[in-house]
Amino acid sequence: MALVVQKFGGTSVADAAKIKAAAGKAITRHAAGDKVVVVVSAMGHQTDILVDLAKQISDRPSAREMDMLLSTGEQVSVALFAMAIQSLGHKAVSLTGAQIGIRTDSTHTKARIKSISTDHVRALLDDGAIVIAAGFQGIDQHGNITTLGRGGSDTTAVALAAVLGADVCEIYTDVDGVYTTDPRVLPAARRLSSISYDEMLELASLGAGVMHSRSIEFAKKFGVRVMVRSSFKDAPGTMILSADQATPRPASGVALARDEARITLEAVPDQPGSSHAVFSRLAAAGIAVDMIVQNVGHEGRADISFTVPADDLAEALEVSGAVAAVLGATRVSHDPDLAKVSVVGVGMARAEGVAGRMFTALAREGINVRMITTSEIKISVLVDRASGPAAVQAVHRAFGLETDAVDGDADGTASRTVKSSPLDVVRRLEGMEDLAIEDCVLDSSQALITFTDLPDTPGVAADVFAEVGAAGLFVDMIVQSHPRDGRAELSFTVPAGDHDRAIAVAARIAAARGARVVEVPHVAKLSITGVGIRSHAGVADRLFKPLADEGINIDLVSTSEVRLNVVVAAEHGEKSLRVLRTAFGL
Ligand code: ADP
Ligand code: ASP
Ligand code: MG
Repeated sequence: MALVVQKFGGTSVADAAKIKAAAGKAITRHAAGDKVVVVVSAMGHQTDILVDLAKQISDRPSAREMDMLLSTGEQVSVALFAMAIQSLGHKAVSLTGAQIGIRTDSTHTKARIKSISTDHVRALLDDGAIVIAAGFQGIDQHGNITTLGRGGSDTTAVALAAVLGADVCEIYTDVDGVYTTDPRVLPAARRLSSISYDEMLELASLGAGVMHSRSIEFAKKFGVRVMVRSSFKDAPGTMILSADQATPRPASGVALARDEARITLEAVPDQPGSSHAVFSRLAAAGIAVDMIVQNVGHEGRADISFTVPADDLAEALEVSGAVAAVLGATRVSHDPDLAKVSVVGVGMARAEGVAGRMFTALAREGINVRMITTSEIKISVLVDRASGPAAVQAVHRAFGLETDAVDGDADGTASRTVKSSPLDVVRRLEGMEDLAIEDCVLDSSQALITFTDLPDTPGVAADVFAEVGAAGLFVDMIVQSHPRDGRAELSFTVPAGDHDRAIAVAARIAAARGARVVEVPHVAKLSITGVGIRSHAGVADRLFKPLADEGINIDLVSTSEVRLNVVVAAEHGEKSLRVLRTAFGL
C-alpha cells in the first residue's frame, strides 16, 4: 500500500465537470489500495478575481485581510472536491490549512511553513477516507490565516508529501510535464522525462512557472519524488528527482523571467563593507536581489549592479538612493525594462564551450547582452524585455533542445520507491522552510582574468568566449558588468595552470578591441551550497558582513538558488573560509 499526494491546479478544477474528473483520479488510486491525500487550488482564475476585487475596494489592502480573502478560493474547491468523491460512494473529508495544522510564520501573502502536524490527516487516512487539503494556506502562531505566495499550492502538496513520507507527489496541471522551456512561449519546447531537483529549482526560480520554486526546496530537502503530469490526458509526465537519478545534460531547459529591473550604484568607493552596506539594507526591506555584479573599476571606485523583480524596483531604488548617499557613490542608474534568460543543466560544468554557445546564439540574433552571471549549473543573461522571447528561442535552438532533450520515459509509478536521502541539515532547522546551508568550500586553484573597457556591442561576449573556447581553455565563473559609457567589464576564471595561456589569448582579444586586461594569477573562490539561497532575502547580507568585518574585499560574486560563489584575493582564502563557516553555522 502506497501513500500518494495528488495536487490539482486551478485549471484542473475550473468547473464542476473538471472537479468530478479529478475526483475520479483520486478514487482510482484509492480503489487500488493506496492512501490518498489530495491538495487542491482555487477554481480557475478565482484567486486573480479575488485580488482584483480587493483592488476595487482599496489601493493598499492589508496583507492580513488579503490572506483572509484569498484563502476562501481553496476552501470552496476542497468542499466541492470532497462532495464529488462522496457522490461517487467513497469517503472523503476536506480540511483547511488551519484544520490540518500547517503552521507558518506571520509574513502575510508570502508566509513560510514552520511545521505541519500529521495526526489529523493520518487518523482520517487510517479510517479509509481520502483527505482533501486546501492548498496555499496555513495559520500563524496567533491564529491568523496566512497564504504562501502565488502558486503556493505546489508547496503545500510537496510539504505534505514530505511530512507524511509519501511515496510520490503527483502534480496534475494543464501541461503534461516539465518542458525544455515554457511551451506557451515556444511551441517547439519538448517534454523532459526527468529532471533533477537542482535544475528544477533553478528553472522555477528563474521564471519557469510550472512549479512553485519553494515546493522544489521541500522536495530536495526531504527527498520527495515529484511527478508533474497532465490532468486532461493519460501521458507519462516528468519525474523530478535527485541528481544521481536524473540524466546529466549540458542544458536541460531555458527559463525566461520577463519582468526584471537593474539598478547600478556607480563609482562606489571600492573597499570592504560597500557591498554589505547595500545588500544589508535591501535585505532589511525584504527585497530578494538576484544577479549581483561588482566590477573591478577605476581609481579605487567600482560599480555595484544587481537585479530585482520589476515590482520591487520603486522600493529598491529608494533604498539604493539612501545607501548611495552614505557610501559616496556618484549616481544611481536603473533600467526597468529588462528580461532575464537563463539556461540550466547539471552537466554544464563538465561540458566545454557552453557559455560560448549561448552568447553566439544571442549575437546571431543581434541581441545585446546587458549583464552575465553564471553558476556551476546555470548561465543567466540580462536582455531588453522585448528581446526576451527571441532570446529564449535562439538559446533553446543552440542547445539542440528542440530535438535532443527527450530521453527514455522514467517509470513514475509509486512502486519505484528509491528515495534520495534527505539533506542532513534538515535536522538542524527550526522551521521546515528555513534556509538550509549544506557546505562552504574553498577552491584555490583558479586564476581571474578581467577585460575592462570592452566596447558594448552585440557579440562581444560571443567573440571572447569563442576564442577562449578555441584555445581549449576551461572557463568556470563568468561575470559581465552592466556597461557604462559604452564600455563593459567582463571577468572569468580559469584553472591557475592555464593562466599563461589564458593571458596570451586575453591580450590578443584586448588588443583587437581596444580593451585592457587585468589578471590575478591566483584567487580564492568560496562556494556556499544549500537550498533557498536566492529566495531568502538576506543571504547576501550574511555573506558580505563577516568578510567586511575582517576587512576582506570581494572581487566577484555569483548567486543561484543552490549556490553562492565569491572570489577574494588568494591570501584571504583560508580566513574567508573560516569566517564564512562560522557565519553559516557549519
Ligand atoms: P496550475 O494552475 O496547475 O498550478 P500553472 O499555470 O501554475 O498551473 O503552471 C502550468 C503552466 O506553466 C503551463 O501552462 C505553462 O505555460 C507554464 N510553464 C512555464 N514554464 C514551463 C516549463 N518549463 N514546462 C512546462 N510548463 C511551463
Ligand atoms: N490559488 C493560488 C494562486 O492562484 C495558489 C495556487 O494556485 O497554487 O496563486
Ligand atoms: Mg501553479
